[in-house]
Amino acid sequence: MINQHMYDLGAEPSAIRELFAYGLARKAEIGEDKVFDFSIGNPSIPAPSKVKETVLQLMEEEPCALHGYTPAPGDMRARKAVADSIARRFNIDATPEQVYFTAGAAGGIAITLAAITNPGDEVLVISPYFPEYRVWIEQMGCTCVEVPAHQPDFQIDNNAVAAAINEHTSALIINSPNNPVGAVYTRENLEGLAEVLRSKEVEFGRPLYLISDEPYREITYGKEVPYVPCLYARTIVCYSYSKSLSLPGERIGYIYVSDLADDAKKVMTTIAGAGRALGAVCAPVLWQRVIAACVDEPSDVASYAENRALLTEGLSKLGYEFVEPDGAFYLWVRALEPDAQAFSERAKAHELLLVPSDSFGVTGWVRVSYCIAKKTIEDAMPAFEALMKEYK
Ligand code: PLP
Repeated sequence: MINQHMYDLGAEPSAIRELFAYGLARKAEIGEDKVFDFSIGNPSIPAPSKVKETVLQLMEEEPCALHGYTPAPGDMRARKAVADSIARRFNIDATPEQVYFTAGAAGGIAITLAAITNPGDEVLVISPYFPEYRVWIEQMGCTCVEVPAHQPDFQIDNNAVAAAINEHTSALIINSPNNPVGAVYTRENLEGLAEVLRSKEVEFGRPLYLISDEPYREITYGKEVPYVPCLYARTIVCYSYSKSLSLPGERIGYIYVSDLADDAKKVMTTIAGAGRALGAVCAPVLWQRVIAACVDEPSDVASYAENRALLTEGLSKLGYEFVEPDGAFYLWVRALEPDAQAFSERAKAHELLLVPSDSFGVTGWVRVSYCIAKKTIEDAMPAFEALMKEYK
């Protein structure tokens, strides 16, 4: 018999992907330039040229060795390159043994949750949150507990986190720079969180893991992005090159467990076990090798910064309310009616594709992805204006 839960997941479309698919069909129907697709987070800048150069060089290597299996956590040279980079950039101990290559942050979070939870546990998320967190948490037989972000700055509400932790809590997932809001958690905010977690560990007598989901670490507009393991020892970093190197389809990232926590070695072994159980071993090997060469390539965030300025200036002139983003490439805009789904539908009539906030765990907002061509943002302004007029 099929697994009904898996069937339901497969049958239930993600709001983001559904809108993206609608956009593709609509573009085929009325023309690429007539649809203003702000739905998906596909980077709009090309990977650095060193990525292509490295791939071409690798093609000259002996193919059986190049394309062969690596050990389950990854190629030792690639793991060392990542570990050295972490140690250099964040002034923290990092060895290859603390790095496990994964198929993006998605793979990393799914493995991590399998490693550090047991059925019946609770895992906290800060709402609004990346919708797949709930899927991965519930798959482990755990409960996804939403903790609303602090208002109006969308930082972590540490009092609310403290109130949500109980004897069943095993972990909290955070994501900074944040999708969908664009918030970057300050050092002070994260230090406060670390204090709460440490005191709750003592109160409930069990470890509390902090999963730091970091696909947007490099995409910031001048704000410091503190390295979370330096502030809270029991942190597990799930990093991805999807956005920083514009390689989302190649499925490459890693898990890093710092050795500052007393159970770090045990956690790393458990991650290896979870990777094995999920069949998530030996991440795409060509891309591990590319990462080894490109680990410190800078991300070109300048064009996202221009898009951000264009969009925020344009929408603010038109009277839209939004959260000023400090990182990532999303704008969190207040819907012009309480029902975000209805607002998104009305936007669609103007060929504007905006993701309603409901699947991120809150009502009344839309997410506007600005990792798109500058011209699309410029051309979309009359549509945003017409939409605003409808509500006046
Ligand atoms: N976490 C967040 C917050 C994301 O926005 C995404 C992708 O958009 C992911 C995780 C998954 O990214 P990856 O492509 O690295 O699996």
